[in-house]
Amino acid sequence: MAEKLSSSENIFSRRFATYATIDGHTGLYPLSLREINSIRKDSPNTASTLWSGRLSTGVFGSPHCESGNKAPKGPDQVVLGIGNKGLQGLVEAGFTPCPDCNPEETPGFWNVTGDVIRQRWGLLTEEAYADKDNLPFDPRRLPLEEIFAVTGKLPDRFYLPELLDEYEVQDFRERLLKLSDQLPDLGYFNFDSPETGYLSPFKFEDSVEMQELKEKIWTPFLEEVQEQRAWN
Ligand SMILES: [Zn+2]
Repeated sequence: MAEKLSSSENIFSRRFATYATIDGHTGLYPLSLREINSIRKDSPNTASTLWSGRLSTGVFGSPHCESGNKAPKGPDQVVLGIGNKGLQGLVEAGFTPCPDCNPEETPGFWNVTGDVIRQRWGLLTEEAYADKDNLPFDPRRLPLEEIFAVTGKLPDRFYLPELLDEYEVQDFRERLLKLSDQLPDLGYFNFDSPETGYLSPFKFEDSVEMQELKEKIWTPFLEEVQEQRAWN
């Protein structure tokens, strides 16, 4: 299901959802890599940094991050941000810092993002913001509807918190189905399954009520149907 970008023509013609400032207006724009490069060229050094957020995990960091580069990076997988406004956009959207490339340790990070983080999360330092006990990996936080309006595609998978119950997973599934009938794989991050890209599917056991229902009603019903078939 994961889409690989095969040719340079392909990657240059496709548009990335990008938080950027164009003609003084900051927002989420569908931009080609050419347009992104030209905006960066026109910006002063400090305002041209490119940031990359990954939809499947809700984590953002450097586009050169090794852990971020393990999976395909097509426009349906990432949201980009250009410069300080782009960084604010990603933070405001609910992306959290990558634990490998640690964007929160970039000099000046708190000057740019501190107000947004205090207002949105009530957290007072970049350490608190990066602490996954405060803000766990959870892509459900992201404005997926807004991003989908730009990309027209969902990522191929989402890594959700491992301890969700089946209703929470079902809620998220329904939210996604409103956007696309191509449902991404849903699971949680599991270090023991490298063969599936560390994605483990959720397995929910039937509730006690459902088990009773099956025992009392459903199983006898099936047996009855089978008996009738045998007679006919
Ligand atoms: Zn990273």
